[in-house]
Amino acid sequence: MEHAATKKITMPKPVVELDGDEMTRILWALIKQKLLSPYIELNLEYYDLGLENRERTKDAVTVEAANAIMRHGVGVKCATITANEARKQEYKLSALYPSPNGTIRAILDGTVFRKPVYTACVKPSVKSWKKPIIIARHAYGDVYKSAELLIPGPGKLELVFTPDGMADKPLRIDVANMKGAGIAQAMHNLDSSIESFARSCFLLARSEKLPLLFGAKDTISKLYDGRFKQIFSGIHAEFSDVDYSYTLIDDAVAKIMKTEGGVIWACKNYDGDVMSDMVASASGSLAMMTSVLVSPSGVYEFEAAHGTVQRHYYRFLRGEKPGTNPAALIFAWTGALAKRASIDGLEALAGFAARLEAATLECIEQGIQTADIAAVSEPAPVKTVNSWQFIDAIAARLDSGAAVNQAAPQPKNPQNAPDSGAAANAPGSKQDL
Ligand code: NAP
Ligand code: MG
Repeated sequence: MEHAATKKITMPKPVVELDGDEMTRILWALIKQKLLSPYIELNLEYYDLGLENRERTKDAVTVEAANAIMRHGVGVKCATITANEARKQEYKLSALYPSPNGTIRAILDGTVFRKPVYTACVKPSVKSWKKPIIIARHAYGDVYKSAELLIPGPGKLELVFTPDGMADKPLRIDVANMKGAGIAQAMHNLDSSIESFARSCFLLARSEKLPLLFGAKDTISKLYDGRFKQIFSGIHAEFSDVDYSYTLIDDAVAKIMKTEGGVIWACKNYDGDVMSDMVASASGSLAMMTSVLVSPSGVYEFEAAHGTVQRHYYRFLRGEKPGTNPAALIFAWTGALAKRASIDGLEALAGFAARLEAATLECIEQGIQTADIAAVSEPAPVKTVNSWQFIDAIAARLDSGAAVNQAAPQPKNPQNAPDSGAAANAPGSKQDL
């Protein structure tokens, strides 16, 4: 369709765009070409994080992109290959570059929140869940930066801390009198990291207008988990508008299994590792999971939670047109555009982001689905499509105005009520993620 006559939506300030690899790179270009450029005068600061360009720039491009997100406040990222030995050979790399997400997370000092996109035809395996549960995982320390020791036989196990410049005044406690061979582990965390984590959680809870739940085990771990609880409660004082509650981690798990959803669940590193996989798989498809990195200074980077979908890409290279689901990539874009709109007060851009989400969900709910959704959809799909057909079907809905003249589709079930479903992704709404 020719759009020249239609006035495009403008955005005075840029979104930082991070291009990526393999199948998601193909879909990324398609989404921009068919679903964004015809409607928006896109103002983007582009960084190519494809593995070839990371090699060409010796990974400097990743750092430049992260700094640009810090400068402009909003970024959107395509999935990228994390190099390993196999990739090093495949792409003839001169080094094993670190994970781009790790580099960006370190520069933004941010927390990653994962959120499923709900549709009426994919039922979560937990019946009571009607709205997304957003998992926040603290990504520093604890068991992931622990030191471990194989204990060969009986003896005294101690924990020793030597303060800088006070080698003669170590802090020392007994851990155990080992009666025989065994194992030991010491772990740590930093007040500054826990504070950043808590601040990012409260910022997202405020921006999403969602309650925040934090669970730890301070009855057993009085100092360690107690410190987490204390820091969260201190930051809460700065965010008194946020509905925050603390409970023991086992009680938090029990509460989550009975909740309707619509909550941000802050988890310590290990709990977040485990619980994010539980929530993701119970929510339907990996291809419907989005992810947002929030820095404690209020900078946001949006992406799909899945990888570059390598297997589909190799089929694409053989001339096939795979049915890779672009929904989470589309929602990464709408999340970034809606955030730009909310920061800059751009109603038209906010409206477009909501319409694009509505059009995407409408397609799925009317039975036009990629294979991953078709496999779990109730009712069964009307038509299983490839990525190109799916994106064309969304564009047709945007063009026809079917989804264009309303901010969100009429709810078919409570999941899609405008203030609870992912369709209501307008800035200032509860789903502005
Ligand atoms: P993946 O790309 O997430 O894909 C794993 C499998 O999940 C796919 O083969 C596919 O299953 C299914 N899947 C994932 N996304 C889908 C979608 N949008 N539509 C339909 N099916 C989807 O994980 P991977 O193959 O283990 O990793 C590939 C590359 O991605 C790796 O190099 C890894 O480093 C990178 N990665 C990047 C990120 C990131 O940038 N955020 C995250 C994770 C992984 P079927 O083949 O059965 O259809
Ligand atoms: Mg995990």
